[in-house]
Amino acid sequence: MTSAASHDGLRIKGVTRRFPAPEGGIVTALDDVSLAIEPAEFFVLLGPSGCGKTTLLRTIAGLEYPDEGEVWLGSERLDVLPPYKRRVNTVFQSYALFPHLTVAENVSFGLEMEGMSRKEAAPLVAEALELVRLPEHGRRRPAQLSGGQQQRVALARALAKRPEVLLLDEPLAALDLKLRRGMQTELKRIQQTTGVTFVFVTHDQEEAISLGDRLAVFQEGTVAQVGTPQEVYERPANRFVADFIGETSFLTAERTDAGFRLRGGDVLPADRVSGAGDMGDTGGGGGEVTIALRPEHLVIGGADAPLHGVVRESVYVGSDVRVGAELAGGEQVVVRLPVGAAFPEPGTRVGLDVLPGRGWAVAS
Ligand code: ATP
Repeated sequence: MTSAASHDGLRIKGVTRRFPAPEGGIVTALDDVSLAIEPAEFFVLLGPSGCGKTTLLRTIAGLEYPDEGEVWLGSERLDVLPPYKRRVNTVFQSYALFPHLTVAENVSFGLEMEGMSRKEAAPLVAEALELVRLPEHGRRRPAQLSGGQQQRVALARALAKRPEVLLLDEPLAALDLKLRRGMQTELKRIQQTTGVTFVFVTHDQEEAISLGDRLAVFQEGTVAQVGTPQEVYERPANRFVADFIGETSFLTAERTDAGFRLRGGDVLPADRVSGAGDMGDTGGGGGEVTIALRPEHLVIGGADAPLHGVVRESVYVGSDVRVGAELAGGEQVVVRLPVGAAFPEPGTRVGLDVLPGRGWAVAS
């Protein structure tokens, strides 16, 4: 099934969606959201619960209509069409398979609804089951399959109709961790094989980073950042993104000619920090800056290291050792040390440094 996308991309243009809140007032689930999703892209909508991801997916599918804004697929305006006229299909977390139909009948069902005979649908059904690696399971009923296999059938059913865009709403959330990892690899393979545009919702940042060609990080109904996983991880647009994705320590510092003066008096040399947002605003003069630090960008140095702290805990986590330290001003930082390195006991005084340019100044 190689159907390279024929559209020119999915465009979300200034979409706003409000709901009456059950407790009174209005909830703005989406607030002027714009996104450009490219053909054959694996695009992830990431964010905490309640930030509007599902509402956007439902708006693309036609299960919700925007109060303001438009949705386009290539040159076709989608938001004025009923769901069944959109070249878009959805896979939900609950697989929504018909229990009384066989696997093959479940996959065939959507095609028959579109007017195909069962005989005409049969080769498409076989191809879709082949794609999800269940060619031998067509005669089983859903209850005779594992959770992961049921999820594959739901995927086969959605793909058999050859949508241009496949919407996936936390499709792996019900699977245990090991199965989930396996299905992530499968999903990536299937997306690459078919060339269908995937729009995938998750609140799991690891899943988003490992699957997405690009991701949009949602923050309370708005898009805080769009970028490749590497861009979003290494150059978060603001404090919310830095906090939500990966492990981050934050330091508040005052910008001086010598560098960044921390609360306890230590000064981090200017070359340790590059940055977004408010770096420019301070113009090298005074002003407060928030510096985000990833554990792998901090190092334990000697007595001449610019920062000083006391080790509070060292935890062996298998792949590395996490050292939690408290700086002179009371800020907590986490440092990642390779396994095998001598790891300091709680109470040890240590010098700390940041790899050049790896501290990241963020807008608060
Ligand atoms: P989750 O990961 O928990 O599904 P989400 O990011 O997908 O969250 P949405 O389901 O899009 O978030 O919800 C966004 C906001 O809109 C939430 O505050 C939610 O309570 C509200 N909301 C969504 N649908 C409705 C509705 N039909 N009526 C009222 N409020 C709604």
